[in-house]
Amino acid sequence: MGAMETSLLAEEFASSSLRDIQQKAKAIAEAVAAPRAQEVDELQVWPAPTMDALGKAGLLGLHVPKRLGGLGQGLMGLIAVTEQLGQACSSSSMCFGMHSVGTAVIAAKSTPHHEAAYLSAIAKGEHITTLALSETGSGVHFYLPNTELRQTENGYEVSGTKQWVTNAGHAHSYVVSCKSADDDAQYGEFTCVVVDADSPGCHLQNAWGGFGMRGNDSRPVRFENAPVSETGLLGNEGDQIWYVFEVVAPYFLTAMAGTYLGIAQAAFDIAVARVRTREYLPMQESLADAPVIQYKIAELWSTVEQARQMVYRAARLGDASDP
Ligand SMILES: Cc1cc2nc3c(=O)[nH]c(=O)nc-3n(C[C@H](O)[C@H](O)[C@H](O)COP(=O)(O)OP(=O)(O)OC[C@H]3O[C@@H](n4cnc5c(N)ncnc54)[C@H](O)[C@@H]3O)c2cc1C
Repeated sequence: MGAMETSLLAEEFASSSLRDIQQKAKAIAEAVAAPRAQEVDELQVWPAPTMDALGKAGLLGLHVPKRLGGLGQGLMGLIAVTEQLGQACSSSSMCFGMHSVGTAVIAAKSTPHHEAAYLSAIAKGEHITTLALSETGSGVHFYLPNTELRQTENGYEVSGTKQWVTNAGHAHSYVVSCKSADDDAQYGEFTCVVVDADSPGCHLQNAWGGFGMRGNDSRPVRFENAPVSETGLLGNEGDQIWYVFEVVAPYFLTAMAGTYLGIAQAAFDIAVARVRTREYLPMQESLADAPVIQYKIAELWSTVEQARQMVYRAARLGDASDP
């Protein structure tokens, strides 16, 4: 039995809704994402057909509550999709993942405005959002933004530059973390807002040419006094600790873990296919016959499977609100 089949049978996906989500993601990964993966990577093409297909299948609404037309899923749902996409096209999985984390942040404490303006459209596959948290200055310490939020007569203004904004040129909105522009703001205190991508003051910078995942259109976005209405505020000002630990970290890490698990599985499958087909004509031997190679393949399988079980377990515990 292949590892893909193992994961389909895993008890974690026993619920019919999760299994249905995983099967839909697998079908899109194989039919739409995989055939385009090389072009997406080599030519840095954002994977529009895959994102369209995910939208039509309802999967862009993975984290939108059911009452708004979404699938109402948590971390296991995110693994079910990103593991499949990551095997086929890592850029597609990254694009889907950052849209999904952004959606989870909007949905976490949504107001009627967020539901009407963002979540219902996301559920219909008509709106792509993304996460704009990272900055050059703070790097991996993304909870220390330097982007400023200033109160105005009509709401707020955002100023600063976010880096590595996946889907940047294709998203309809950005989930942005900002610190208060007030002089008495506490260190490490920030607020999340949702900014419409077509707002004046949102400027896309040059695309970033990475070594891998080259089609995810991660690029800097500069916000220059970009206006945000009061309804754009996510949660309350200063809700940062709750958002970081309850939403951003678990969803971000799960999206990445699912993607990397898919990549690891794809690499393993390539290795197995290679040793099975490599024949040495003079000896009429196959590479797969060599005991040392069989041992190495077994070690690889075990490493991938351990990672899979850990990721599933973490997602299951996260969905059960286990700290
Ligand atoms: C393809 C891609 C897409 C992305 N998409 C998004 C996105 O959509 N939205 C978004 O907000 N961000 C995104 N990011 C950014 C990402 O989440 C990280 O914030 C970013 O990559 C940090 O990079 P850095 O080079 O500044 O890391 P650095 O901060 O320079 O860190 C380098 C290394 O040092 C380690 N390190 C740093 N400090 C310590 C310490 N105190 N102790 C031990 N180790 C430490 C880090 O773990 C890391 O391994 C994306 C990144 C990539 C590569």
